Amino acid sequence: MAQTDDALVVNTLVRQALTSTQEVMGENGLNAVLRASGLERFIGNFPPDDLQPAIPSAQYSQFNQAIEDFYGRGGRGILRRIGKASFQYAVREQAALLGIAGVALKLLPEKQRIKFIWNSVASALKKTNPQIEAWVEDKDGRIAYIEATCSICHGRKSSGPICELYVGSLGEAVLWATGKSYKITETHCLAKGDPFCRFEVGEPSAEG
Ligand SMILES: [Zn+2]
Repeated sequence: MAQTDDALVVNTLVRQALTSTQEVMGENGLNAVLRASGLERFIGNFPPDDLQPAIPSAQYSQFNQAIEDFYGRGGRGILRRIGKASFQYAVREQAALLGIAGVALKLLPEKQRIKFIWNSVASALKKTNPQIEAWVEDKDGRIAYIEATCSICHGRKSSGPICELYVGSLGEAVLWATGKSYKITETHCLAKGDPFCRFEVGEPSAEG
């Protein structure tokens, strides 16, 4: 198991998550979720935009759980929307960290573009915390993003995959890189006992 109990999520990523959650759920919704996950100290007080450790991964995963609980059956869709908003935030506020400032992808084939942006996401995460193990796989014509240290499901147990926020972020990244909505499927999840969380690119949706 690659995860350690003291794995940490840094300030800039918590700030990204809180900003995106507030965008999707509103301030009252965010505050309810912060209370439910023991993170009251962030109410009206987002962490600064730096790479200092903010919270343990276990608490970040509780925050995700609290959003799911708050909305019940609709929770998964909300988490995906927060994931999308998180990637948009990263493009807007963290382009340097993401390594996409001034990048032009237009001349590359779509597959290369997807690999470029997912590699960028993985290396940005590793820049925030060298303990993070994330990589992109291109095997038998299938591109997948894999993280063995996922903080979204850290310490959680489930019979199926639960990292909807990641699905949303990775899908939005692909949309940014290709201009198309591709179906992203979480095929493996630490929460159901797999050695990592794995997200695979499917086909672009009909409407593009
Ligand atoms: Zn996960």
